[in-house]
Amino acid sequence: MKALVLEQTKSLAIKEMNVYETCGPDEVRIKIMNVGICGSDVHYYLHGGIGDYIVKEPMILGHEASGVVVETGSEVRNLKAGDRVCMEPGIPDGGSRTSRMGMYNLDPAVRFWATPPIHGCLCETVVHPASYTYKLPVNVSYEEGAMVEPLAIGLQGADKAGISPGDTALVTGCGTIGILTAISALAGGCSRVFISDINTDKLAITEKYRNIEPINLNSEDLYDRIMSETDGWGVDKVFEASGSTAAIKDLHRYACPGGTLILVGIPAGDGSASISITGMQAKELRAETVFRYAHKYDRAVRLIASGDVDVKPLIAAVYPFEKSIEAFDAASDPSSKAVKIQIAMDS
Ligand SMILES: [Zn+2]
Repeated sequence: MKALVLEQTKSLAIKEMNVYETCGPDEVRIKIMNVGICGSDVHYYLHGGIGDYIVKEPMILGHEASGVVVETGSEVRNLKAGDRVCMEPGIPDGGSRTSRMGMYNLDPAVRFWATPPIHGCLCETVVHPASYTYKLPVNVSYEEGAMVEPLAIGLQGADKAGISPGDTALVTGCGTIGILTAISALAGGCSRVFISDINTDKLAITEKYRNIEPINLNSEDLYDRIMSETDGWGVDKVFEASGSTAAIKDLHRYACPGGTLILVGIPAGDGSASISITGMQAKELRAETVFRYAHKYDRAVRLIASGDVDVKPLIAAVYPFEKSIEAFDAASDPSSKAVKIQIAMDS
């Protein structure tokens, strides 16, 4: 079948690949419909690796997908051919200690789509465990289904934040993950969520959302604005979704006494960043971190289906599969105004 393959750094090709050949008893075969291009896909494309994960063999990209079930294994009871679905891209070893404790996202043996050496899902069909495949309600489109993966990260952050009804929040960074974190914070009970960035176009998208308030760092001082909006108190929850070391350095300043910092963004390089411990101690701040997600897919699907979470404004463009390389070049453009670019396999 045809697949979008990263052959080496900066070299993508649509070619025939023999993958996902057999469907086991607990697995389903899924015809892929929509796939979102993630920052990690772009990073593998441009740099050939992320940290210790280096692309050594040609690898199929893509991990944010929706599709339709075309075949079920003999033991599968929860799905049937024709079901519209989205898929959790990380498959842990269910017997590992982390999995048994419920933290299956932290299983070191997890096999995650498009994380070398594991192939992704930008191909005609995949075979996937039925237990990590989730039905889409009729009112959730394939485009929305492919947004469940990044939304799950936002929900993981909102969960880790321990939001109380009426809390205020700040999200630093207005990319896909930042906006979905802000939406998740509202869904989790926040009353107001500020979101900051220098990208005016991306900030403009948030104006479609009630109670998300953009702060343009080109023209405003973040600390002054947060303090003036909160009577000098600070916000209850500060979510970091940019990975910027400059943003991380100041996070404690925006939080109120007893507040929480939630580190969602991934700093570049060796992953380290500095923050003032004494600044955190002076307010007894709590710090939380997020690595992907666990137990969030069904919740993300329900929130989209309910109409309370609208992911559609984030989808900037949908390219046909034949134009996948153009789609990746658009997603790689640093001056891009687009938040999420998708590829439709069946257009
Ligand atoms: Zn992703």
